[in-house]
Amino acid sequence: MTDYNAYISGFSKPKEPLILEMELYAAEHRVPIMDDTGLHTLIGLLQIQQPQRILEIGSAIGYSGIRLALAFPQAIIYTIERDTDRYEQAVQYIERSGLNDRIHIIHADALEFDETTLLEQSFDALFIDAAKGQYLKFFEKYSPLVRQTGVIYCDNMFMHGMVLLSDNELPKRNRTMIRNLKKFTSWAMEHEQYETSLVPIGDGILIAVKK
Ligand code: SAH
Ligand code: MG
Repeated sequence: MTDYNAYISGFSKPKEPLILEMELYAAEHRVPIMDDTGLHTLIGLLQIQQPQRILEIGSAIGYSGIRLALAFPQAIIYTIERDTDRYEQAVQYIERSGLNDRIHIIHADALEFDETTLLEQSFDALFIDAAKGQYLKFFEKYSPLVRQTGVIYCDNMFMHGMVLLSDNELPKRNRTMIRNLKKFTSWAMEHEQYETSLVPIGDGILIAVKK
């Protein structure tokens, strides 16, 4: 497939040294951070929305969280990560970014975490970017925290093209995950309470606006 990512990146504003360092770290340690096309689109959509409070499931090393915080100087971001090494790496990067007053990172499995502790105020946007086979669970658990007309974004809806393969073409270890992801996709697209679309940008982003 044509790689528009490099083309689009060519027009990007110069990135901060810390962001470039994180991109290098992610490449070296195979951390699946969001690419520029996906991130630009997400930020563009959020610009329309002007969110004050964003909740992210799957911080990894804090890359998308920091980029969102830089793009939205008024926003408060809560982000959840279960992996200890990545969490610790994220904490360091967030410290160094100087954004630790606006990015609250939580070390927990999002499926076990007591989400009601975040309920003092609702969220304008929820960004799901964690285990791809569990999107339905994340959505069901965290969508009640999103206000009406708020938006839920889900990354990696195409799983690097794997969703296009038939069941028997899929590597065995990915089968359940892809089945779940597809089930989630049709469930979300049919959901009465949301206006949902699936956009072929980055690795596929699902956008569900709460009616
Ligand atoms: N949003 C990040 C990338 C996240 S990668 C960025 O673009 O910069 C996905 C992350 O989700 C991984 O670090 C993984 O450890 C985490 N994750 C997967 N399942 C999770 C769960 N149930 N709870 C919390 N984090 C989870
Ligand atoms: Mg992702």
